[in-house]
Amino acid sequence: MKVFNFILIGRSGSGKGTQAELLEKHFKNLFYISSGDLFRDLIKQDTDTAKRIKKILKKGGLPFDELAIALWMHKIAYNVKENQGFILDGAPRRIDEAKTLDRFLDFLERKERTFFLLIDVSREEAFNRLLKRRVCSICGRVIPAMGKFKNLKICDRCGGRIITRPDDTPEAINKRLDYYEKNVIEVVRFYQRDNRLIRINGQQSIEDVFKEILEKIEPKIRNYL
Ligand SMILES: [Zn+2]
Repeated sequence: MKVFNFILIGRSGSGKGTQAELLEKHFKNLFYISSGDLFRDLIKQDTDTAKRIKKILKKGGLPFDELAIALWMHKIAYNVKENQGFILDGAPRRIDEAKTLDRFLDFLERKERTFFLLIDVSREEAFNRLLKRRVCSICGRVIPAMGKFKNLKICDRCGGRIITRPDDTPEAINKRLDYYEKNVIEVVRFYQRDNRLIRINGQQSIEDVFKEILEKIEPKIRNYL
């Protein structure tokens, strides 16, 4: 059985997490790796690294670059079965990380069956969404300010209280969006040059974004079956 892997790229606020969940439901044999959850788990640990990361995240900063890719590879190595694909919500932030990830995918013989989906939203749209979005105070689930989520009062995953994220201030949001502009866009271009980038219009309803994803990947999947 052929398995497919998905890597979701996009600005903070692009709706990557929501689309990742929809993909997970749709394909069934996918192991879902959320970068946000990985970091939330990490900072609960009583380690030097965890404490430092916690401090940085509190200030709205971004943790040490290579850590994300190390955590992904660790998670995949320890969890993903032979007949299982994975979905990664969060992309490499730098080209050298993208190359490391490529070597790992090569090693797994999955490079050809990994789709890089760019959920494309403008900076302005991302900014406005991030200002309005909320998170669960218990599990950290991001509650988008759209569709059926808009009026959610308690978390639909764990029942926790929904709050505004303390680091979703205009300054911190701009910092995160600046980082994308300066770093991640290079990675996007890297995949584009390689003809591997699948661009999805993220400025539609959640359902329409997902529809576009399926329309664009289904012909590619058929090629492998
Ligand atoms: Zn929750």
